[in-house]
Amino acid sequence: MAELDPRAAPSLRPRRRASAALEYPYAAPTPDGAVVEIAPGVLWARMPLPIALDHLNVWLLRGDTGWTVVDTGMCTETTRMLWERIVAEHLGGAPIEALVCTHYHYDHTGLASWFSERFDVPVYMSLAEFLMLRGMADEMAADGPPPAELQRYLDRAGMPAERSQRLVEALRSDPYMPPPLGQFRRLRAGDELTIGRRRWQVLIGEGHSPEHVCLYCAEERLLIGGDQLLPRITSNVLVTGFEPEANPIGLFFASLDRLDRCAADTLVLPAHQSAFRGLHARTQELREHHRHQFEVLRRYVAEQGEATAFQAMRALFPHLRQASEDILALGETVAHLNALRAEGSLQRRLGAGGVWRYTPAPLREEQPEVHW
Ligand SMILES: [Zn+2]
Repeated sequence: MAELDPRAAPSLRPRRRASAALEYPYAAPTPDGAVVEIAPGVLWARMPLPIALDHLNVWLLRGDTGWTVVDTGMCTETTRMLWERIVAEHLGGAPIEALVCTHYHYDHTGLASWFSERFDVPVYMSLAEFLMLRGMADEMAADGPPPAELQRYLDRAGMPAERSQRLVEALRSDPYMPPPLGQFRRLRAGDELTIGRRRWQVLIGEGHSPEHVCLYCAEERLLIGGDQLLPRITSNVLVTGFEPEANPIGLFFASLDRLDRCAADTLVLPAHQSAFRGLHARTQELREHHRHQFEVLRRYVAEQGEATAFQAMRALFPHLRQASEDILALGETVAHLNALRAEGSLQRRLGAGGVWRYTPAPLREEQPEVHW
């Protein structure tokens, strides 16, 4: 579903002020097949995106006999044409030998199937991301009523029937769904990829997607961060209809702790916006962003006395523009509500019509040991 589509969720929009703590040492390549070499044999290119997010950064890593590509861009004729241009103009005649997809969202995997056929290369990703990619393709291709688990999730959130119908229609009419990927090679936490003289360690991030791959080269302090660590956008962290009781914010915070083990002067190569230094400042900003959202929700539920997830979503994201944004905004709201329940400051009960109603939890003598 729209986990595939990280477009224009309010939390994905650039915040107004850029952080003073981050440095951007390289000018970005234009999204027309140009590349910037940010280290010997590490190329940065940009693919245009026909959605609000504007562009995706892709990375090319020179090996002994060819290149490994990280992420593809969306499934469009323009993206295919730009990849042909990059291969013809910037790879020194060496072939593409492998594709790594950081996670299943379709701006990252749109051409995975095309890559595997056009260049006859293996596609590396984590198991959870591969299965999500397969599951989404099946679900989006279906006709008829919306999947039962999605409908139940939206109903329990208190989304009015008309609005949830509009949302499902928007998701199903998405023109950018890529063809399904048939086979993959599995990446797991702690795996090491040797590409040329560099060793890249697989770090797994959770919360934005289930098993997001980041690649860290400790010797040169380079981190390919995907959507797990963006400089000025806060990635959507969301609950889905598949796993409505999940606590992805808890998982996201734990992932930030793991990323904090990277060296302080690491150059982060993110999937959107520009390469930056200031990893530790950025993980701290992301924690603060979510703490602020906790505060908004706590206050809103306290003022109302009781609220549904849909009402809380409208308080947290008052300016949604498109039907498809609802899935990201609601998912992020439920993620925060679930975290507040885990922390013990909210509780919920099933009210009339099978809708969850959230209320402040009575104060306890001792709060459970949950740290954000
Ligand atoms: Zn993503």
